[in-house]
Amino acid sequence: MKALEEVKATQAERAQDYVKSLYEQVVERNPNEVEFQQAVKEVLDSLIPVLVKNPTYIKQAVVERIIEPERLISFRVPWVDDEGNVKVNRGFRVQFNSAIGPYKGGLRFHPSVNASIIKFLGFEQIFKNSLTGQPIGAGKGGSDFDPKGKSDMEIMRFCQSFMTELSKHIGPDTDVPAGDIGVGAREIGYLFGQYKKLKGAYEAGVLTGKGLGYGGSLGRKEATGYGTVYFVEEMLKDKGLSFKDSTVVVSGSGNVSIYAMEKAMELGAKVIACSDSSGYVFDPNGIDLDLVKRLKEEENKRIYEYVKERPKARFEVGCAGIWSIPCDIALPCATQNEIDQEAAETLISNGIKAIGEGANMPSSQEAIDTFLENKVLFAPAKAANAGGVAVSALEMAQNSSRVAWTKEEVNEKLQSIMKDIYRKTTEASEEYGESENLVLGANIAGFVKVADAMIEQGVI
Ligand code: NDP
Repeated sequence: MKALEEVKATQAERAQDYVKSLYEQVVERNPNEVEFQQAVKEVLDSLIPVLVKNPTYIKQAVVERIIEPERLISFRVPWVDDEGNVKVNRGFRVQFNSAIGPYKGGLRFHPSVNASIIKFLGFEQIFKNSLTGQPIGAGKGGSDFDPKGKSDMEIMRFCQSFMTELSKHIGPDTDVPAGDIGVGAREIGYLFGQYKKLKGAYEAGVLTGKGLGYGGSLGRKEATGYGTVYFVEEMLKDKGLSFKDSTVVVSGSGNVSIYAMEKAMELGAKVIACSDSSGYVFDPNGIDLDLVKRLKEEENKRIYEYVKERPKARFEVGCAGIWSIPCDIALPCATQNEIDQEAAETLISNGIKAIGEGANMPSSQEAIDTFLENKVLFAPAKAANAGGVAVSALEMAQNSSRVAWTKEEVNEKLQSIMKDIYRKTTEASEEYGESENLVLGANIAGFVKVADAMIEQGVI
């Protein structure tokens, strides 16, 4: 018996050493890429128990292979502004892993975009896409182009130039981009138009998040936000809680935030705050979602305009303060690392019950540790926000079979996918001995499927 314990301890030590050396290698090979390093570290730490149980993964160097993108493409994007000046941005596409399907993941247009951001997002996409149960590999892309303040024609010219290069690397069976921060229906339309012109063929499945009139799926726009709330609802249900009569704070006021707010409200929650990169609005009577939609989806305005029409609401400059508002549930739906340890501690001291990550990596590692140590229910992004890419996969399925499902059909499928992700995540966390730790569960459940497919496909 003692001998068995010793063997186990040795195996655990070996797995820990292995993971440590891999992380050191990642830091050395990807210097200054702090977001990528952070995303890899979180996954590596979770995988230790799997490596102890399945040493084949170490022998086959699966983790070593999974943290190295299959391909990273970086390219010049020249375009002409309305005054006739030539501008140059940098475009990226990381094709991270194709073990279980064509590369799949969004495009982000934001001045902060660089190789580190794109690689962290592409890496997370591996596990997220695997969790959806759909046949999709992982990719991500974007540009440091800032769409804010640009005219419609400038956006179009930029998208056309971006796609002129990107089109060489994507296709319905190779790599299927979608939207992300700064890339919505308008941008997808311009990107698709240019791709079609260049290819001389109508390959509807090359992009997802398309307009409904040309191959888009009903329910895609809502999918990430709704999916996040469905996942959190499952997590709450397990503890005898629900969204009903709870107060909710949602950061951001973009695609994910708006539909997370909508679904939370439908389930009986009172959403009291939302934000954009200029600051946040606190509306004690409950956010007027129609007003947010008009300001953001139709008029392209800043969130402070909200208080002009809702005198009892208050606007505060800066984003971080939103986490000082007492609430039962927080849904960070804006961007990476928006909740740091201090914000996590404030949320906890104000009695937070649950966190649902709608954005990608919105909580820092220290914040996650703080939530878990304090037994706050925590729905990690890879699992909670997978509804968007899941419905993108459903859009691909509709495109290739040339059918269009109703909104109800899509929503039903989304709900069942989110329940399934919750089940897989909790089962994996239970199997590996940390039943309350869904970060571990999501990473492991996502990893195992991809790792096994990689082994079956040989060393490639
Ligand atoms: P949008 O561009 O529609 O909205 C982003 C929102 O977040 C805006 O309100 C924006 O404010 C705010 N924001 C962006 N950057 C910052 C920043 N640095 N600081 C503070 N606020 C910021 O993007 P999405 O809603 O599509 O994406 C939001 C998050 O969800 C991202 O992390 C994305 O990767 C993730 N996600 C999105 C999916 C999707 O289907 N769209 C799928 C899965 C994850 P402002 O307008 O002022 O810039």
